[in-house]
Amino acid sequence: MVESITERITKIRSNLPASIRLIAVTKQVSVDAIRTAYAAGIRDFGENKVQEAEEKQAQLQDLPEITWHLIGHLQTNKAAKALKQFQWIHSVDNLKLAQRLDRLAEELSCSPNICLQVKILPDPNKYGWSIPELITDLPELNQCQHLKIKGLMTIPPQGLDHGQTLSVFEKTQELAQEISKKNLSNLNIQELSMGMSEDYNLAITAGTTMVRLGRILFGERSRITHKNVESSSPLGRK
Ligand SMILES: *Cc1c(COP(=O)(O)O)cnc(C)c1O
Repeated sequence: MVESITERITKIRSNLPASIRLIAVTKQVSVDAIRTAYAAGIRDFGENKVQEAEEKQAQLQDLPEITWHLIGHLQTNKAAKALKQFQWIHSVDNLKLAQRLDRLAEELSCSPNICLQVKILPDPNKYGWSIPELITDLPELNQCQHLKIKGLMTIPPQGLDHGQTLSVFEKTQELAQEISKKNLSNLNIQELSMGMSEDYNLAITAGTTMVRLGRILFGERSRITHKNVESSSPLGRK
């Protein structure tokens, strides 16, 4: 028998150390499934697109305790919207974006929680700072006084084995400690946002504080994109 969302959430939570924040990733997941997860006790929800989140949030205003996390790449022209919709932004991946968010946070009188996205290994498919780039930008990030810079976020490249994935997570942890030792007053790097359905146990081993889980809670995401719909149209156009 297929497990329900509620059963999966209960099972995962009972195996997660209590100190780890479980973020349910609901991209391409229906509003009804989000309600089910909320009823099962989830309060942290992650979305990767500002627009998709906006549509869902409008339908979920009766659920008062949700904390929204933006986990996908943020274009600078959507930064103001993102600040209004999300309490956490995990995917701050360059200095210009951080500085833009800082200025907007001042204008909007908000103080968003921020994770800096890092690429521990080179990965052309991902956004984020390399380690040397981040070290270089730390003094300027420290000037972003309206941001609560609280952690590092990472996504390992695809195709790594367990040992390599664990090493990416451990290096992220070491980088967080290295930054903390610099005693930059506005950089309070205590959170690690790492671990998805396939690799969250390795992230726990490496000391993660926030896991971002989608498919393991909600099942495989639908593959039906606009592209697929078009190519299966009766006209059969390729
Ligand atoms: C989709 C996504 C997740 C969740 O991935 P699953 O494999 O479904 O658990 C986590 N983090 C980010 C940044 C994502 O885009």
